[in-house]
Amino acid sequence: SDHSLDYPASPADIDWSQHYPAHPGKVPEFADVGCGFGGLLIALAPQFPDTLMLGLEIRVQVSQYVHDRIAALRVTHANDDGKQYQNVSVVRANAMKFLPNYFTKHSLSSLFFLFPDPHFKSRKHKARIISPTLLAEYAYVLRPGGIVYTITDVKDLHEWMKLHLTNFPLFEPVDEDTLRAEGKGTIIDAVYRSTEEGKKVESNKGEKWLACFRRIEARR
Ligand code: SAM
Repeated sequence: SDHSLDYPASPADIDWSQHYPAHPGKVPEFADVGCGFGGLLIALAPQFPDTLMLGLEIRVQVSQYVHDRIAALRVTHANDDGKQYQNVSVVRANAMKFLPNYFTKHSLSSLFFLFPDPHFKSRKHKARIISPTLLAEYAYVLRPGGIVYTITDVKDLHEWMKLHLTNFPLFEPVDEDTLRAEGKGTIIDAVYRSTEEGKKVESNKGEKWLACFRRIEARR
């Protein structure tokens, strides 16, 4: 199912106006990797009406569900001011293999990894969505100053993501209070609470571990 014919060869081959007809000429700035049922996108869409957001989800039926959910919201809000939900869309994609096929260098300001699949067994660690190899791709698509948001209810995975992001030269840890002081509180709140997985963890009274990182300029 990862056959390369399913994917755009490069971001230049994507006609974003098919995804965002009300925003001609714009490209996505927020990417939600493994967006699941789309809770984050739906929560943030009205908060940042001029920012285009894209969810990437590997499961065909789940990505179709998000697609239909967005289409329905666009219809419901068609008469509202401000083109509600015109700024969110979704693609079915294996984000671990094809992120640079969708996003040009430094085009993203926010990259989300919310409650990613943990892959507990250590021989499967390379299947985790945060790995040393993939971080180079994440740094490529994120602009300097851009933020990677991670959250999980699996402590071991939290430590793993934090370790690899901290060790990668193009990312530096940034704490929650700093981001809130920069006006990113709305985003942080949505990261904690808006996704389907985040809600499930909440109803099970599970703990949530947040770790955020800033993409820094390469040192000379
Ligand atoms: N972020 C959502 C949330 O917080 O509700 C979903 C969390 S769910 C535990 C992880 C999601 O990542 C699943 O929907 C899964 O299909 C998706 N996923 C796993 N590997 C992926 C990949 N390589 N590319 C895109 N999506 C992936």
